[in-house]
Amino acid sequence: MKHNELFPQFLIEGTVRTIQEISDPQIPSMNCQISGDTIQIICHPRFPRHHYYRNAVKEIRKVLIRSAKATILDRVHKASIKVQKHPQNVFIKFYKSRWGSCTNNGVLQMNWSLIMAPVFIIDYVAIHELCHLTHMNHSPHFWQEVKQHAPDYPESRRWLKQNASMILSLANWLNDESRSA
Ligand SMILES: [Zn+2]
Repeated sequence: MKHNELFPQFLIEGTVRTIQEISDPQIPSMNCQISGDTIQIICHPRFPRHHYYRNAVKEIRKVLIRSAKATILDRVHKASIKVQKHPQNVFIKFYKSRWGSCTNNGVLQMNWSLIMAPVFIIDYVAIHELCHLTHMNHSPHFWQEVKQHAPDYPESRRWLKQNASMILSLANWLNDESRSA
């Protein structure tokens, strides 16, 4: 399948998803869904062309955030059982320069753009933030505990370092409401 050149290539859970455009007269305006390795933009044939691009970007963003909420919350939940640490609450939000955070009243916030990373990376960030529930710092004790639950954590940190600008620039691209095309 040829990749649509209007859009960058997105990843979900570490896999590249091709954008596929489908015309469907049954759809009132525009819908977007994940289907196998594609992100499908399903659009009514008479959808106004001048609104098409901006709308499609908005729909792709919605689909990624929806997918992030489902997957990331599930992985944090599983990680919290594994490490026996339970946050007060978990939120998905966007950060420009970090993957997650943990407040001193036990609230975890995870960057939705992590949905583009493989699941083992999401798990590492979840474990990292959960360990901050007991160590509000990056002391040797903190890293010892991370290592106990995520023995391959140096590999995950390397992956994040190598791929941060790719993931964050895709998320920024989706967030950019000022796009004129
Ligand atoms: Zn940290």
